[in-house]
Amino acid sequence: MSFPVYNRGLVYHKVSEQFEWGVTTTTPQQFRTQMLELRRLGFSFSRIKDYDPSLNQILITFDDGYSCINEYAAPVLDEVGGLATVFAITDYVGKKNSWDYFPESKQVSHMNWSELRSLHEKGWEIGSHGKTHRRLIAMDHKKIKDELVSSKKHIEDQLGSEVTTFCPPFNAWNSDLLIQIEEAGYTKVAISYPLNGLPKWGGSFIPRLGVYLHDSKPLFLAKLFANPLAPLEILQQQLINIAGDGKILENWLKPLKTSS
Ligand SMILES: [Zn+2]
Repeated sequence: MSFPVYNRGLVYHKVSEQFEWGVTTTTPQQFRTQMLELRRLGFSFSRIKDYDPSLNQILITFDDGYSCINEYAAPVLDEVGGLATVFAITDYVGKKNSWDYFPESKQVSHMNWSELRSLHEKGWEIGSHGKTHRRLIAMDHKKIKDELVSSKKHIEDQLGSEVTTFCPPFNAWNSDLLIQIEEAGYTKVAISYPLNGLPKWGGSFIPRLGVYLHDSKPLFLAKLFANPLAPLEILQQQLINIAGDGKILENWLKPLKTSS
């Protein structure tokens, strides 16, 4: 019995042995099991930039560009003969993730340029996740343009090939941002579900579902194949995007603290 594939994009954040109080880490063992299972099911692994919907491809993507991806995920993709896409935050390349809400002792490193270059030389795509991992739709037009244009140029200058895919931090986007993404020269935007009400724009949407620590094999496969769990997967994705936006929670709490 085979089920139709409803989703071909997966997003990972950290693939690591290091435990954290969050769900966006997948262990190296889980990741390897998942990739071997996808290969066993007959999928191949493509970068976003040359994804061909007529082929049986899965898009493996890594948001934020953590060093653990080079250490643990890249060897597994080498093993299954797959390529992937990493979204780098250009002001944080080679630095700790101080943009996130973790205390300093829990911060982890982003890949440096030589690690990103080695993945790029293997054939991986390095896309842009902006300069500073801020919620772009809350920023003014000029600052958004700088995030989009200078992060693209920075990666292109370092790696010597065109950057065509953008991934909005916290999956926060709207039709105005899409216009700016297009004006900055991107042709693809990696987003999360749900997909209802997608506006028209000149580029392509690359929808993805997140893979998390608690994803057992049936939950993992539910991210790809049409089934009754699909709406739950999408709800979970939305909740995690909101919870992951720790800086926003922080900002909401600030006025309360000062007024009390
Ligand atoms: Zn991110």
